[in-house]
Amino acid sequence: MALRHYQMFINGQWVDALSGDRFDSLNPANAKPWASFPHAQDADVNAAVQAAHNAFENPAWRNLHATARGKLLRKLGDLIAANKEQLAQLETNDNGKLIRETMGQIGYMPEFFYYYAGQADKLEGQTLPLDKADMFAYTRHEPLGVVAAIIPWNSPMYLTAVKLAPALAAGNTVVLKPSEHASATIVELMHLVKQAGFPEGVVNVVTGFGADTGAALTKHPLVRRIAFTGGAQGARAVVKNSAENLAQLSLELGGKSPNIIFEDADIGSAVNGVIAGIFAASGQSCVAGSRLLVQDGVYDEFLAALKTRVASIIIGDPMDPNSEMGPMATQSQLALVERMVASALAEGAELVHGGERACITSDGWYYHPTILAVESNQCSIMQEEVFGPVASIIRFQDESEALALANDSEFGLAAGIWTRDNGRVHRMSKAVQAGIIWVNTYRAVSPMGAIGGFKASGYGRESGIDAVKDYTQLKTVWINTSNEPMSDPFIMR
Ligand code: NAD
Repeated sequence: MALRHYQMFINGQWVDALSGDRFDSLNPANAKPWASFPHAQDADVNAAVQAAHNAFENPAWRNLHATARGKLLRKLGDLIAANKEQLAQLETNDNGKLIRETMGQIGYMPEFFYYYAGQADKLEGQTLPLDKADMFAYTRHEPLGVVAAIIPWNSPMYLTAVKLAPALAAGNTVVLKPSEHASATIVELMHLVKQAGFPEGVVNVVTGFGADTGAALTKHPLVRRIAFTGGAQGARAVVKNSAENLAQLSLELGGKSPNIIFEDADIGSAVNGVIAGIFAASGQSCVAGSRLLVQDGVYDEFLAALKTRVASIIIGDPMDPNSEMGPMATQSQLALVERMVASALAEGAELVHGGERACITSDGWYYHPTILAVESNQCSIMQEEVFGPVASIIRFQDESEALALANDSEFGLAAGIWTRDNGRVHRMSKAVQAGIIWVNTYRAVSPMGAIGGFKASGYGRESGIDAVKDYTQLKTVWINTSNEPMSDPFIMR
């Protein structure tokens, strides 16, 4: 089958890389190339950033009324809603995520554009109650300029929406760099950006790899803000790059999130929450609840119920709406999962379920949902992010031990707490070090709920009412209201 030939979107035009270089994207369900993308180098990235910079200076965007910006965002939301099936199929082809997951996620994307559309003309400044006579001062939230948005492969559309919508609502211009493993939906989205009527250069896409395309973008002198979602290695490189342009930075990184099941929990509900937490998206989720902390009194009952449900998970073609788990997105991710499970077993973990590839097709990157029982939180599998369908389970005796285990991690992205004790809900929610706490639920998201991590899970927040302000800079305006001329500063009174 001929490869689908994608181009980049720079200054409202569809372009190839100046060098002509391209790279292929493989379909995780069969490991076959299905699309090819331009490999952007410094000159292409420079053209995209320059286009975004020019668009930022252009009165067509700069002087556009905030209400009109909101209307453009609303239109884009409507267009995404009208094209959600096509976008969901593309994303499933590209990263192997189940069609039922991409349909759900992309079907919900318009809400992010509507939410930030509504905020565009509500970015109000303040008048300051000054301690000076004859002075009046007020503040304005102004856009920063060119935003570089760096996207990973696991949820390209969602992780673009949470950056693009607030950045545009605030009046910035954007250069998006999707992952080299899953660029298709982000490129396709540009047809809708154009159709919505955004001026040329306001949104641009460059495709390529982290070490060259991503590096050129994040160190570009005209970039004023970087929104990065990805792993620790890329994040460290981006922090260094931002030392060159001093761009403001937000980092949404990985996690090793605990799902904590107390003896008084509804066990059936907790099993469902745990499965949603670690086996949805085949575990390739930053908020994956990969550490299961279970109170001693219900450990056996919980594990038996979990094993029963996990054994019936339907692994299959991600395009099949009946599949409950699809493939890993990349071959290297599959190899990483295999290595990490092997290390855990070598360190003494007990294999409760899975632990091997699933033969769904001869060459797809499928792995069985896996449960490992461990006795120490110091095992590498309890400390390192797998980004795959691997849950590690450990016992605890009481609330204080649960808390100590939960916080014994370099990460702090999310946590699940399963209990019917209201006092405990509040004690644990306060004491667990994580940016998102889910109580008797897991994975709930909304444009209104901020997402972001404590500790090595990153800094800055995406979604929520304050996210749009993170794409602005505050200006304070001072006005002398007296009619007296300003006195000579060197004559002391
Ligand atoms: P990755 O860090 O390899 O890549 C993410 C993006 O960064 C890609 O576009 C990549 O090309 C780019 N990149 C990599 N190195 C770069 C560099 N030196 N300069 C500029 N850009 C660079 O991550 P991934 O494998 O695509 O995604 C998995 C990671 O992302 C996991 O750790 C996961 O937990 C994390 N993640 C976090 C969230 C969140 O919201 N916290 C969401 C999804 C994924």
